[in-house]
Amino acid sequence: MDSNEQQIVPDRRLLPADNHVHTEWSWDASTAVMEQACERALAIGLPAIAFTDHADFTAWAFPGQQAETPVVRVIDTHARSGLLDVDGYWECLEHCRARFPDLKILAGVELGEPHLFAAETSSLVQRRDFQRVLGSLHSLEVDGQLHYAPTVFTADTAMETMRTYLAETLRMVESSSIFGILAHIDYPMRAWPKTAKPFDSADYQEEYRAVLRALASSGRALEVNTGGPWPADNVLRWWREEGGEAVSFGSDSHEPSTVGKNFALAAAMVESVGFRPGKHPIDFWRR
Ligand SMILES: [Zn+2]
Ligand SMILES: [Zn+2]
Repeated sequence: MDSNEQQIVPDRRLLPADNHVHTEWSWDASTAVMEQACERALAIGLPAIAFTDHADFTAWAFPGQQAETPVVRVIDTHARSGLLDVDGYWECLEHCRARFPDLKILAGVELGEPHLFAAETSSLVQRRDFQRVLGSLHSLEVDGQLHYAPTVFTADTAMETMRTYLAETLRMVESSSIFGILAHIDYPMRAWPKTAKPFDSADYQEEYRAVLRALASSGRALEVNTGGPWPADNVLRWWREEGGEAVSFGSDSHEPSTVGKNFALAAAMVESVGFRPGKHPIDFWRR
């Protein structure tokens, strides 16, 4: 192999597995195609990919969207229909496993607010051998109703709401053991109000550390989600100091082109904090 070919053919040992990818089986990724995500993963040199389609038990509606708009219909239908079509998803997964033998394809699911839907999430994950189960806080309760979390943040209350978000995340970690990876602890940063005090994770260190301590003591993994703003390296440092052992990487891709997005940069940051690849390319990175 000459040097040009070496540049073209990626080294699978250098990139972590993408443990957070959505496909057409997610209600909010209807144009994504699992097969194309596999092709993309192979093209950019990922050693493995986990398909973690949404299982949400909330009926979300977004502000400014009328009930008759397609997105809201999809969300409502999805919420009423019991969410993830596990059989359809599994058939598609097996098809991809047969078609792409050079790619390790993991079964997964992203559970929204699993602590609030213990019976539903439990019966869902018992149906199949899910290898990557993500726990995600997408919603916050306001006046007795769950609202899509980013919409709850206003310029005046952003800091207070961030503390509420992390307190609820702590409750989720402490009261639900069904998930193995805490997804996007940085989720509200995706919609941080422009006129609020700029987000700085140091302002919430105590709250972050409480979440990280609980997650570490239960032996679970923290996700570095490259789909939105990432956690700052100080959050990863706190994770290590609080006893965190494992880091999972996730692009949160909702279309094939973003599979593995920014993974080389994210891997460099995680390595700089003291985590290393495991023995096998699909392993979490560990301290
Ligand atoms: Zn999510
Ligand atoms: Zn996701």
